[in-house]
Amino acid sequence: MVKPKTEEEIALLRENAILVSKTLAEVGKIVAPGVTTLELNRVAETFIRDNGAIPSFLGYEGFPAALCLSVNDVVVHGFPSDYVLKEGDVVSVDCGTLYKGYNGDSAYTFPVGEVDAKTRKLLDVTKESLYKGIEKAVAGNRTGDIGYAVQSYAESFGFSVVRELEGHGLGKEMHEQPGVPNYGRPGRGTHLVDGMVICIEPMINAGGRGVYLDRNGWAVHTSDRANSAHYELTVVVRHGKAEQLSTFDFIEKDSTIRYK
Ligand code: MG
Ligand code: MG
Repeated sequence: MVKPKTEEEIALLRENAILVSKTLAEVGKIVAPGVTTLELNRVAETFIRDNGAIPSFLGYEGFPAALCLSVNDVVVHGFPSDYVLKEGDVVSVDCGTLYKGYNGDSAYTFPVGEVDAKTRKLLDVTKESLYKGIEKAVAGNRTGDIGYAVQSYAESFGFSVVRELEGHGLGKEMHEQPGVPNYGRPGRGTHLVDGMVICIEPMINAGGRGVYLDRNGWAVHTSDRANSAHYELTVVVRHGKAEQLSTFDFIEKDSTIRYK
């Protein structure tokens, strides 16, 4: 049985969620051809620390940076590097904060300049699959309802769902129970209870669902080298309708961000 969060805990998780959401928007402002992923990481780490928080990914099980920056065929857990983003790339930006003893964790995949039509569709469908999942994050449902919603939506466009990684509970720890798979069957999995805080994070591939682990032990690549997209939001399970804690509004309602 997963213990729901108290309203006091949810308030602290909400503060983290807003900070993570704003950090993603700060990064989005500078995503452009010619920028290195190390520069994206630097902007995020500075912004997080300037707001009195700690970048929780840095040092997590040895992870070397504030952000996971995953370009094109990298699904998740890419390292920032001197790789220079180029027109047509996609970069998944996954960000975590630790503030007042609680965690924030959200992700957004940005197109770099103009991307081809299939890639644009991959981004739109992956993000929409996340919202389909959030619709099912209500008390009385089970994690399989979320996974089924994500999977059935993404697969209806011919895309595939990465199964080796999943969403999770969030609290004092970055990864808590329950696991929230992006595939599944309705009515199966962990029961969702009012006050549970979970991260839903579909990882959707343009090609096949197969992935492999990079020699660096972290980056997850698509086996067929096709592009992958990843979006993540934190929500509170509630009766009737989930409460979203993190948001893409700072990204999508900011006119200074050219590409979203
Ligand atoms: Mg994340
Ligand atoms: Mg996560």
